[in-house]
Amino acid sequence: MSTIQFISIKYSNEINILDLELIVGFIINKSREFIITHPEFVLNKAQIVKIHALVAKRKKGAPLAYLIGKKEFFGLDFKVDKNVLIPRPETEMMVEESLKLLKTKNYQLKTKIIDVGTGSGNIIISVVKNLVNQSSVIGHYKFFATDISQKALIFAKANAKNHKVFNKIKFLQGNLMEPLLKSKSYKLKANKLIIVANLPYVSSKNYKKYYSGIKFEPQSALVSKNYGLFHYEKLFQQIKTLSLTAHCSLITVLIEFSPEQKNKIKLLAKIYFPTSKIEFKKDLAKKWRMGKITF
Ligand code: GLN
Repeated sequence: MSTIQFISIKYSNEINILDLELIVGFIINKSREFIITHPEFVLNKAQIVKIHALVAKRKKGAPLAYLIGKKEFFGLDFKVDKNVLIPRPETEMMVEESLKLLKTKNYQLKTKIIDVGTGSGNIIISVVKNLVNQSSVIGHYKFFATDISQKALIFAKANAKNHKVFNKIKFLQGNLMEPLLKSKSYKLKANKLIIVANLPYVSSKNYKKYYSGIKFEPQSALVSKNYGLFHYEKLFQQIKTLSLTAHCSLITVLIEFSPEQKNKIKLLAKIYFPTSKIEFKKDLAKKWRMGKITF
């Protein structure tokens, strides 16, 4: 009889045990805890066939998140498919930093938070979700999320609905900040802004070097021209235009980047925002990962 224990033994040498538990859980619609604590649970034939197929794909390198259609980020589950980047643990820093900023006096009133290139919506949804519990503050903020990919926005919206924050975030389709620059109706004038962006930043060289076998995620969400900085430079241009036309009183830009880009990011920020204060933070692997530009 094919029990969970039987399956675990059968595939334990083929894929990582955690991945296997998540695959079995996904197929029988039960939590990982259930899988671990119910080795005697009997699986039917159709379930066995499906598990076998997913294990085979996993062995060929398909990311687990795409196989089970979700990824945990900041303690929340996000739906993903091949059209969106899989949320990375290092990006949780962006959420922590945004929440920290929102707690400072500077940002307690009339602040707009814009997540540029939102993908699955993981950053903005995690921020909002952590603020809704504090009903006294949530009303002071307005939240926006943009993405150039219509397919990504479908996922971001579905995730926002799943986490019951859809009515709190305005989702806009377009190139980086363009939808917000084009329309006056979002009233950015004289406001305080926090702009969060995890844009494609992998250079073509690194893409070729490190992603040779991993061609599962959308290249358009990972790779950027000009040493991986094309998208950030474009974003800086747009923010510069905005800061000149909208007279925002305070802007903080949070960006995630690749460790070797730190000095170039600093240079770019100095060119576009000469009066800004620029700070950097390392990720859990002690690599430079996040930039914070304030002006
Ligand atoms: N951190 C991701 C990676 O190295 C890249 C994400 C991005 O380009 N925004 O795979």
